[in-house]
Amino acid sequence: MGRKTPPYKNYPQWTTARFFTFLRSALRQAWSRYPPKYEAQKAASVGKMRNKKTGRQAEHFECADCHNVFPQKETHVDHIVDAGTLRCYEDIQGFIERLFCSKYDLQVLCHDCHKTKTDSERKKKIASLKPENDGANQGDLFSV
Ligand SMILES: [Zn+2]
Repeated sequence: MGRKTPPYKNYPQWTTARFFTFLRSALRQAWSRYPPKYEAQKAASVGKMRNKKTGRQAEHFECADCHNVFPQKETHVDHIVDAGTLRCYEDIQGFIERLFCSKYDLQVLCHDCHKTKTDSERKKKIASLKPENDGANQGDLFSV
């Protein structure tokens, strides 16, 4: 992964990149207990129905994209606006504000729709990182 970042000053055994990865994962863990996340889930709930795979009654949720319903295990609470990168101190404020957003900025997606969304965001990010890319290659970047 690219060039090595300098050591983190308060714990030089880690690179700065390692430290920010650690911080990002700790914040994401906190987000998993963030009340608006549960509220977004509740808003997408369609109530209990039979889980086709297990045969048991389970709460199901509507995917905001394909509008099919899925048991919780097969869904993901998605940030409509991605929380973005956290690589340096300057990123912290924006990252936290986007991560801990309002429940209206969250949506429930099924795994397939979530994967499609994150894949296309990744491709956009890669495309925006290449200054020589004038858009001429976007056809193959976005084709499925
Ligand atoms: Zn879906």
